[in-house]
Amino acid sequence: MIILDGFGVANERNKKLNQHILEHIQKGNRRPHLSIILIGENPASLSYVKGKGKACEVAGIDHKLHHLPDDVTFNEVLSLIQSLNKNPNVDGMILQLPIPKHLDENTLIDAISKDKDADGFHVINQGNLYQKKPTIQPATPKGIMTLLAHYNISISGLDAVIVGRSNIVGFPVARLLMDQGATITVCHRQTKDLASHTRKADLLVVASGKPHLVTKDMIKPGAIIIDVGVNRVDGKLVGDVDFEGAKEVASYITPVPRGVGPMTINALLENTYELYLKHI
Ligand code: NAD
Repeated sequence: MIILDGFGVANERNKKLNQHILEHIQKGNRRPHLSIILIGENPASLSYVKGKGKACEVAGIDHKLHHLPDDVTFNEVLSLIQSLNKNPNVDGMILQLPIPKHLDENTLIDAISKDKDADGFHVINQGNLYQKKPTIQPATPKGIMTLLAHYNISISGLDAVIVGRSNIVGFPVARLLMDQGATITVCHRQTKDLASHTRKADLLVVASGKPHLVTKDMIKPGAIIIDVGVNRVDGKLVGDVDFEGAKEVASYITPVPRGVGPMTINALLENTYELYLKHI
């Protein structure tokens, strides 16, 4: 069994990104810039934003946190996004999710210019993804694909089961895996017998937000397990897969933490760099 070391791979890639950025700076260009919009005091979001800032420092990407109060109005967030859209020194921006319920998440995401959409959530970028056109890919699915490629895991012909169908993880990762030749099953809350599907998976991606939803008995021996979930249980971070049991049967598995999370941040930074190259 091999542990897929997202933390190590992401760190290596962030450092490489720094070297590329230095080359641009030596030519007289500015650094790339990522603006992060955070609304409220959600402890998980605060910690993610901190992690993104730290990774930006490793990669040499300038970043700014725009921290807005919980009771901010829709128009106030919209006008911040519009001003960042207009700012020629901003290459990418993200709206840290979740945002308070009184704000219309989809409208705000689509207000971000598609050319500054570092998370790859904009409707046009997602539309391009589904039509197999070049695009800014959503960060978590992109990070997962990069991690699999790093370990030379060939996707073609695999039976891949994805648990979760969200717009930011489950659905786009299904699309990317299908593009690489996997046969896809997407499970969700209404799936009748989850284990009957997961047990057939050569590659199992779990993004349900339910701690330890997938246990050892639900895994085909030799399967590749990608655990996207991040859940806080008794003050400890755990995934959607019971790691201790799963690692006894899996061929490859991502840990939580230090698996998909750092790869997501790396993908976000690589997206920012891609946007920067279009802007300079
Ligand atoms: P979401 O709540 O939008 O979607 C969850 C999906 O799981 C839904 O499609 C739902 O139908 C499905 N689901 C829930 N319970 C299920 C069950 N019992 N059986 C089968 N399917 C079930 O969540 P999301 O935004 O896709 O995130 C999923 C998890 O991944 C969360 O824990 C989130 O914190 C984590 N996450 C991690 C990263 C990272 O970088 N590591 C990035 C994004 C999300």
